[in-house]
Amino acid sequence: MAEKQQVVIIGGGILGLAIAHYLQNSGEAQVWLFERGELGAGTTSQAAALLTRARSSDSAALMVHETHSTLRMLEQRFNLPFAQRSGCLHIASQAHEREQLLRYSQQAQQLDVGTQWLDSSDIQRLLPWLAITADSSALYYPDDGHADPYTLAQLYARSARAAGAQIIAHCAVSRLESQGGVFTGVHLASGEFIRADSVVLAAGPWSAALAYDYDIALAMAPVRSHYWITNNQPQVDARQPMAIIPSAKAYFRSEQSALLFGVRDSQCCVADPRALPHDIHSFHFAEDANGWLALEEHWHNLLALCPLLEQAQLAHYLSGVSSYTPDGKPLLGRLEQHSNAFVATGCSGAGIAFSGGIGRLLSEQILGKPTFVAAEEFSPARFATLQPPADPMSAEFRQHCARARSGKSTG
Ligand SMILES: Cc1cc2nc3c(=O)[nH]c(=O)nc-3n(C[C@H](O)[C@H](O)[C@H](O)COP(=O)(O)OP(=O)(O)OC[C@H]3O[C@@H](n4cnc5c(N)ncnc54)[C@H](O)[C@@H]3O)c2cc1C
Repeated sequence: MAEKQQVVIIGGGILGLAIAHYLQNSGEAQVWLFERGELGAGTTSQAAALLTRARSSDSAALMVHETHSTLRMLEQRFNLPFAQRSGCLHIASQAHEREQLLRYSQQAQQLDVGTQWLDSSDIQRLLPWLAITADSSALYYPDDGHADPYTLAQLYARSARAAGAQIIAHCAVSRLESQGGVFTGVHLASGEFIRADSVVLAAGPWSAALAYDYDIALAMAPVRSHYWITNNQPQVDARQPMAIIPSAKAYFRSEQSALLFGVRDSQCCVADPRALPHDIHSFHFAEDANGWLALEEHWHNLLALCPLLEQAQLAHYLSGVSSYTPDGKPLLGRLEQHSNAFVATGCSGAGIAFSGGIGRLLSEQILGKPTFVAAEEFSPARFATLQPPADPMSAEFRQHCARARSGKSTG
């Protein structure tokens, strides 16, 4: 029997754990995953966790499709149904938005995903608190939903462990050992050395600073993503679908009887990756720390769409860190500079939805198998010819990444 390849994964967020699940269950790899804090407690725990299938490319849609299949499998296997499959409405009020919905509906057909066209009265029936114009229409994905990202991360970990993976929390990787363009292993903060045939960098927004120490410039930056949650509202209930409204750069979903909503700012806050503390929950962006300026920018549109906000109390505000790339697509795959090093990060606000797809893709790439999606679209090498070159330590480059979030229209 061929010896298993030993794969070291740095980072126990949703991506590292999803990769561990797929790799270890392939039977062809022995996974060692190191997480310096709690599993799934980094930026994963901050996500609104919309698992929307409508995506800007077919490969991206296929990745989310894979996540939904794996999520169902894990729920059944561990007898823990936790995803809220209340559906999702993509709402259009302008001609170019309706054209986008047509493209989504073709994409869904190719993947055999059920969708329905709704007119404004259907939308109103499903979301009585939403004020839309009579010419609005929507593409409805009845099987879309959201899932607690922390729980999903734990299920990936349980599955990987059950198959024999070593998933070790509270254990930081302090240094990689590099010899002749190959990472031969990692040094742990405890002083131990772990040998590796392949190394996967899945350290979330910390990946850029970690890679920089080895002259690897990952084309990504830590950009603010944020959302608010109201107090309980009589018109809101957990069975209502999520709503994505590109014209308002806003999304809504129920959080039990409260309403969660997020907006995309015209100028997103961005940070220096070296400034991120280990405890991401203690981090605040330098500007607009409590989100009031962003809320002010969108308030007029939000009230017009959702009049209940006038009386609602904003019970929670979450300002988190998303890793954005200049084109808003993740960085996935082999690194050019080190033949046995792989990266999985830069998910640009979609890491929970992509997690199953990323786990499968990275597992296939590491094992040298044909991949289930065309991977070039996500290759870290696609920014090699960028001018000026991608440099996560340059403020100008980071603004480039922040603009990718401002212009985003899918979930
Ligand atoms: C407000 C907000 C809303 C979001 N909403 C959505 C959404 O609706 N849908 C969606 O799909 N995505 C959403 N996201 C994005 C999603 O949260 C991320 O894409 C995803 O969680 C990234 O996972 P990760 O594993 O790359 O990073 P993380 O979860 O941050 O994991 C990285 C881990 O690496 C560890 N680490 C770092 N350095 C080391 C080291 N040297 N040694 C050991 N461990 C190390 C860290 O401790 C951390 O736990 C949202 C994000 C935010 C902030």
